[in-house]
Amino acid sequence: MNPALVSAQARGLTPYTPGEQPQDKTYIKLNTNENPYPPAPAVQTQLRSYKAEDLRLYPDPNSTQLRESLAERYQLTAEEVFVGNGSDEVLSFAFYAFFDPHNGPVLFPTHTYSFYPVYCSYYGLEYQKVPMDEDFSVQLSGFSEQDAFSGVIFPNPNAPTGIALSRNQIVAFLRTARRDRVYVIDEAYIDFGAESCSGLVREFPNLLVVHTFSKGRSLAGLRLGFALGNPELIATLFTVKDSFNSYPLNRLSQQLALRALEDKSYYEKMQEKVIETRERTVARLRTRGWYVLPSSANFIFASAPGIDGHTLYSDLKQRGILVRYFDQSGIKAFVRITIGTDEQMDSLLADLDTLYSK
Ligand code: PMP
Repeated sequence: MNPALVSAQARGLTPYTPGEQPQDKTYIKLNTNENPYPPAPAVQTQLRSYKAEDLRLYPDPNSTQLRESLAERYQLTAEEVFVGNGSDEVLSFAFYAFFDPHNGPVLFPTHTYSFYPVYCSYYGLEYQKVPMDEDFSVQLSGFSEQDAFSGVIFPNPNAPTGIALSRNQIVAFLRTARRDRVYVIDEAYIDFGAESCSGLVREFPNLLVVHTFSKGRSLAGLRLGFALGNPELIATLFTVKDSFNSYPLNRLSQQLALRALEDKSYYEKMQEKVIETRERTVARLRTRGWYVLPSSANFIFASAPGIDGHTLYSDLKQRGILVRYFDQSGIKAFVRITIGTDEQMDSLLADLDTLYSK
């Protein structure tokens, strides 16, 4: 293609690569951290009874009802809640809104969500990876030691390790943090056992907590994420959104998300099931000599004795099981395995035994 047809900024982009979705056969998909259980029954009911004629109309550009409902859940006001098309979109707006290239690099941990460097390249931001502890936990003191930076972001629990920091550790860190920088905590995997920082946004006006409906609420296909924070941060996110797309959340998604929020106990049960399956799987892998990081998420990060991560990934793919491998120095021994149903994890274990038992 004629390079003159492409803008210099588009030429410079390196896009994020999501987990593969091959179509050649049916796989057991343990590679994109989807929830193995369906969304709440009320979501199904709403879908069946939805009046298609309403789709003639634009949606509420501010998703007011949904934000009010989320505010109630988190004991905040709607002015402290922002919603977007998946938390990826919310995060992207946050990078644009709060990280200023003139202030220095964005800080995040060495091994973390691989979309962060992509947002940096999109918005012309430098970044600096902050070293982690030897046991792969996020080292908050590493952030505190930096002088010039435009902001901080890390997931809790972290991805792809699954390791969580406690709320107390984060509070202690935020108390000593700079007041003139925004700290974003990406809680995409918070529903599987870690402590949320959503209750801290009033104490720390420079804290933004980002959540998704994709994992804990089994709605990855709906594309719904949200942020909780001080009204001024939230208003800034609205300014960014309204400079990009007035109506990111369609009518149907807003309705379905409301239904999902109504059924807290269904989701708690499903999240509990995922946690039980995770603990069972971790124990079984450890019995086989695997090194498994302690996970508070709906995935585990694990390595097998004497087998590198890429071999594991490709052997399992051959047998119809998809897991995620990251070709990055320091974590090449590992694969990230999403927690599926008990049956899916039984198949994984059976295949591993067939592949590698001597
Ligand atoms: N943050 C982290 C750490 C993730 O792993 C993901 C999922 N890829 C997301 C955010 C984005 O999730 P979604 O856009 O589906 O809300």
